[in-house]
Amino acid sequence: MRLTQLYAPTLRETPAEAEIISHQLMLRAGLIRKAAGGIYSYLPLAWRVLRKIEAIIREEMDKKGGQELLMPIMQPAELWLETGRWSVYGDEMFRLKDRHNRDFCLGPTHEEMITTLVKADVRSYRQLPLRLYQIQNKYRDEIRPRFGLMRGREFIMKDLYSFDRDEDGLEISYQQMYDAYTKIFTRCGLKFRAVEADAGAIGGSGTHEFMVVAESGEAAIVYCHSCEYAANVEKAELNAITAQEEQLLPLTIEDTPAVKRIRAVAEFLGVSPDRTIKALAYQTDKGPVLALVRGDHEVNEIKLQNQAGCLTLALADEKAIGEAFASLPGFIGPIGLAEDITVIADLTVMQMVNAVCGANQPDRHWVNVNPGRDFGAAVTAADIRLIQEDDPCPRCGAALRVTRGIEVGQVFKLYNKYSTVLKATYLDENGKDKPMQMGCYGIGVSRTMAAAIEQNHDEQGIIWPVAIAPYAAVVVPISSKDQEQMALAEKIYTELNLQNIETVLDDRNERPGVKFKDADLIGYPLKITVGPKTIADRLVEVKVRRTGQVHHYPLDGYLNNIA
Ligand code: ATP
Ligand code: MG
Ligand code: MG
Ligand code: MG
Repeated sequence: MRLTQLYAPTLRETPAEAEIISHQLMLRAGLIRKAAGGIYSYLPLAWRVLRKIEAIIREEMDKKGGQELLMPIMQPAELWLETGRWSVYGDEMFRLKDRHNRDFCLGPTHEEMITTLVKADVRSYRQLPLRLYQIQNKYRDEIRPRFGLMRGREFIMKDLYSFDRDEDGLEISYQQMYDAYTKIFTRCGLKFRAVEADAGAIGGSGTHEFMVVAESGEAAIVYCHSCEYAANVEKAELNAITAQEEQLLPLTIEDTPAVKRIRAVAEFLGVSPDRTIKALAYQTDKGPVLALVRGDHEVNEIKLQNQAGCLTLALADEKAIGEAFASLPGFIGPIGLAEDITVIADLTVMQMVNAVCGANQPDRHWVNVNPGRDFGAAVTAADIRLIQEDDPCPRCGAALRVTRGIEVGQVFKLYNKYSTVLKATYLDENGKDKPMQMGCYGIGVSRTMAAAIEQNHDEQGIIWPVAIAPYAAVVVPISSKDQEQMALAEKIYTELNLQNIETVLDDRNERPGVKFKDADLIGYPLKITVGPKTIADRLVEVKVRRTGQVHHYPLDGYLNNIA
């Protein structure tokens, strides 16, 4: 490819709307252009990167017995009504009607679709296990689409679904996908961590998120430097709370800001910090709210689930909860909550403070409560967390570290959640009907590209990991008017491409400074400069983008050095 022909419109200035570096660099390097909030065109350079990431994903999925297929993006409402997710998914789902007024959505995910697909044709244990995947646009009407490709409303995802005979089979599928993900992100040249995440209503220890470590990451992650333990912060808090409840490792109460706040809230409520109180969320005509109540009231068993920065809880019995709420005398609240399900819980004051602080966001806060006045210090993102640096690891007790990450993938054991409701069963060896055990495994392909830039850049621009670089090398003749230089540049360009080193030739009639700047901005791993010295000394100058190292290789043997 010659740069006079490549469609990669670079920008000198950083566009004002781009807050994070990957977004800025993708706009500046001519990788993407915005169509609407969270909706982008991928220009040729970006598309090459995406296809490389996809190729790595395909190889690793196929190695684990994955079979690629392609399901419709447009999905009929009936599928989602069957599992109840038509309403649960809420505003994040893009919905549309056909000319007959029938409801459809643009797939945010495909559990309903694939389970329905598989159940129609899989009858026998002999047809299992089955691992099916696709790479496709997904649609989620995110509340705050932002940061370019990081949180898009249309984005590319690889989603694989596994179907097994039993939980042992699911365990194997899960482990294989976990291993495949480790390979994929390693091959992409990324620094990442697989962290335990909260499986929510499904429960169990059945989910990990793959986090690319980056300052700009939206997720806080916790890891132990002396054992393997790593979790996202929500899960780490649950783990810490569990550890505390089991009195294995009591949390040390020191005067950290979080603890001070817990004390203040406890005082406000007239309870001790480890005392269990009731929290409950319910629907009102103004939307869902979370309420906190004083006193002991019998409520149903519940399970903890953590979403959208608030503690929410899986529903036990909606009617009973409604009645319980109506009769509660000590109601304090409400707190706005992002979920539209009715939930109820026993929370320790610790957990509750976390929920309260999580809810104290500019657009989501406790009605009639002034955080500054009622809780001492104003709540900042940094101190809403109960887990902090140096807290004890729940496994080995060593000091925990807290860092930030970008969720690029997640693996999830669904067990029979979908197969039971959708009646995806098979006949086992004894002719007995059994629900398939399922797992789902997603990778944000477009987000992975953005995450790669977050992790690999400098002042000058992108530093692509070689495996996913749009091109491996650029050949820059210092003067495009100098025929001898151009001829030599052409020769090197052709030779490199013949060696399958994907190379572009900067044949533009530009000043060398402009060409060098663009080369650094776009981030080709190698830059080969052809100038008067190349001709005089018969040496090829090769600069490594990542290290800045400059090598001079003899003109008649340089290929061996580069390949
Ligand atoms: P997040 O917590 O960031 O909202 P998620 O947990 O909702 O992501 P999953 O349902 O686990 O996302 O989807 C699988 C993968 O798809 C995620 O790990 C992420 O890499 C990617 N992804 C999810 N939402 C988006 C988005 N809005 N834009 C780009 N990629 C996304
Ligand atoms: Mg999400
Ligand atoms: Mg997530
Ligand atoms: Mg996820």
